[in-house]
Amino acid sequence: MTEANNSVYENSLNKNTLYIVATPIGNKDDISLRAIETLRSVDRIYAEDTRHSSVLLRHHGIATPTVSLHEHNEEQRTASVVAFLQEGGSAALISDAGTPLISDPGYRLVRGCIDADLAVCPIPGASALTAALCVSGLPTDRFQYVGFPPARETARAQWLSTLAALPHTLIMYEARHRILATLQAIEEVCGGERRACVARELTKRFETLHHGSIAQIRQSMSDDDMQLKGEFVIVLSGHQALEDEANMDKAKQALQILLPHMPIKVAVKCVVELLDVPRKPTYNLAVAMRNADSAD
Ligand code: SAM
Repeated sequence: MTEANNSVYENSLNKNTLYIVATPIGNKDDISLRAIETLRSVDRIYAEDTRHSSVLLRHHGIATPTVSLHEHNEEQRTASVVAFLQEGGSAALISDAGTPLISDPGYRLVRGCIDADLAVCPIPGASALTAALCVSGLPTDRFQYVGFPPARETARAQWLSTLAALPHTLIMYEARHRILATLQAIEEVCGGERRACVARELTKRFETLHHGSIAQIRQSMSDDDMQLKGEFVIVLSGHQALEDEANMDKAKQALQILLPHMPIKVAVKCVVELLDVPRKPTYNLAVAMRNADSAD
C-alpha cells in the first residue's frame, strides 16, 4: 500500500513518485495550476511525443527535461522508469492531449509502479470524454466509455451490436476519416432515431456541438465538409426501452417500501420526483401492487 503524502496538496513534490498529469485537449490554458507546478518541479517528464508537448511546455514556462514514452516503447521503458523512481527520482507522465491512459499510453507504466510499491499520484484535468459528456444533454448518471470503434466495417458493426441494447449513455472517440462511416453504422445498428451528440474540436476555435437524432446529425455533417474535419467524440443515448424498464424496476422497489406507510398518491408523487420516472405508469404500477397486496 502507498499512502498519499499530504505535502502533495501543498505543492511540494514527493520523490519516488510518478505523477499522471492531464494536459489540455485544445485550449492551452485548460491546465491546472498544480499540473504546471508539478511539471516544473519533477526531475523529468515522460511524454508521448516530446516535440508535440514542447509547444505546451514552453507556453507555460516549463523547462523540465522530457523523455519519450509511447505505445511502442512503453513496455521496454517501464523497467527504467521504475528504477529511476526507486533511486529517488520524481517523474510526470503526459500524453499528447487530455488525460494519460484514456485511449493513451501509461497503463503498463502505472501497473509497473504499483507492482514495485511506488507512489502514483493523479493530477486531474481535461479529457475529451468528460468535456463532451457534460454538454451532450444526455443522461450522465450512468455512462460507459468504449474507446475507438474498430476500423473495419464488419468488426465495427459487430462491436456496435454488442453495445446497442445497453440502457446507459455511451461515449466513443472517432477519427476524422471514419466519423461519417461510424455515424452511418450507428444509424444502421442502433436506429436513426437514437439521440446523440457529436462534439467536434472541443475547446478549440471551431468547436461545434451537434445535438439531435443520429440520422439528423449524420445528415447535417455530411452536408458540410467542414464538419468532417477535426477531432470527434460521439455521445450516444442508451437504449430507451431498457432504460425505462430499469427505471421502473427502481420505482417498484421504492413503492414496495413506501406504499405500506402512505396513500398511493403520496407514494407515487415521491417516487416520480425522486427517480424522475413517468407519472402514469408509476401510478398504474402502484395500483396494481396495492391490489395484489389486498388480494393476498
Ligand atoms: N487522452 C485523451 C483524452 O483524455 O481525451 C484522448 C486521446 S485519444 C488518442 C484522441 C481522441 O480523443 C481523438 O481522436 C478524439 O476522438 C478525442 N479528442 C481529443 N481531443 C479532442 C477535442 N478537442 N475535441 C473532440 N475530441 C477530442
